[in-house]
Amino acid sequence: MNQMPPSGLGGSHQSFTRPPGTPRLPRIARGEGVWLFDTDGNRYLDASSGPVASNLGHGHPRILAAMAAQARQAVFAYPSQFESAANIEFSDRLARLAGPGLERAWVVSGGSEAVESAIKFLRQHAVVTGQGSRWKVIGRQPGYHGNTLGALAISGDDHAHEVFGPLLQAVPRVPAPLSYRLPPNHTVETYAAACAAALEAAILREGPETVLAFILEPVGGLATGALVAPAAYYEEVRRICTGHGVALIYDEVMSGAGRTGRFLAADHWPTARPDVAVLAKGLSAGYAPMGAALFPAAMVDRIAAAGGFMHGFTYSAHVMNCAVGAAVLREVEEADLTGNAERMGCLLRARLDAIAANSPIIGEVRGLGLLLAMELVADRGSKAMIPLERVAPQRVGELALRHGLALYCRRTSRGAYGDWLMVSPPLTITAEEVGELSDRLAATLAEFTDELRA
Ligand code: PLP
Repeated sequence: MNQMPPSGLGGSHQSFTRPPGTPRLPRIARGEGVWLFDTDGNRYLDASSGPVASNLGHGHPRILAAMAAQARQAVFAYPSQFESAANIEFSDRLARLAGPGLERAWVVSGGSEAVESAIKFLRQHAVVTGQGSRWKVIGRQPGYHGNTLGALAISGDDHAHEVFGPLLQAVPRVPAPLSYRLPPNHTVETYAAACAAALEAAILREGPETVLAFILEPVGGLATGALVAPAAYYEEVRRICTGHGVALIYDEVMSGAGRTGRFLAADHWPTARPDVAVLAKGLSAGYAPMGAALFPAAMVDRIAAAGGFMHGFTYSAHVMNCAVGAAVLREVEEADLTGNAERMGCLLRARLDAIAANSPIIGEVRGLGLLLAMELVADRGSKAMIPLERVAPQRVGELALRHGLALYCRRTSRGAYGDWLMVSPPLTITAEEVGELSDRLAATLAEFTDELRA
């Protein structure tokens, strides 16, 4: 690959994020289904839906048609001045798919904004209900909820806290029930129980009257590599939050909109429903910048009666974005993409398990539906990590491009908890494409293994 060209006056995204002299990224030309094509004529199978966003693949004709139709009518109208049919259709569909207790959708431009909105909403609701002393949001370590200062403050990433701190609020963090490297004398189940107990201890230590919410990714994203806890963990967390009057927020930015084989990952644990859910990414499948926070109708009515939610952005409930979101949700339902995520997820999981069985550098495969990850290790017996200076996820990502595979590989928390690859193709993927993805991934990992052994 050629070197990054000297940037023009405005530079590019790369000029902010990649040191000079690093290989330049392919330049996107077009996308079709699970394939992305660059301007040099290469094609790449999108094995991760970008950052787990392109749930419908690329160039989807129904979504493009919905965008064109909406563009001819109205692209933008300020939601304090006009309501829109697109916003109403989108919110109604989302509420129906999300199920009881999550009836009202607050629509914004992305995941971080949705997380911020959820917290501000809960804070205002606490004030309205005479519980204004509750403001702390407990998060998990590791964990990720977005890159704005508030969302970063509740994310469990010490490196980001070091670089950007002091953050806007100091919040307690409790361990996420990581499944691969367990503390001595623990099983996955006993460690998950200990992590839930740590939540209750944190609430008691902080003073329950000061704790507003606990936020977690029900199926983890990049921060944990598709971590799934035992069912008892979710039930215990639900019990603890209810017992102390703490709102339970599920961050479903990655896991929502059908990706795990249910519309919400929460649907896998029906007895541990959240009070609030936050979605983005797959909600508009990358066709528009979009996120949403879902709340119970009774809470929204209470805030409205007290004068209204004191929050909003220029692009809240953006008309075009809502039309895209409505079209995406229509397609998710009509093409049964949630069912496809479950079916193709089983197939892909079996292929990844087979790759792992034959690879000395894959320690674990985990996840649900089409939100999967593979843990990279130097040695499966000792679970030793690949030396940090190898920057294994990034390197695998570079090699994958050569094999015509676009992977989402970025180290988080400086690799302190391990390294992994997200494998999360569009929910539209076919069995044949699952085979092609797996072959290309196996070849990439074999090349990386040779490089490590050289
Ligand atoms: N929450 C989770 C679980 C995420 O994975 C992300 C993004 O990766 C976010 C929140 C932030 O979303 P956005 O990048 O759209 O602001």
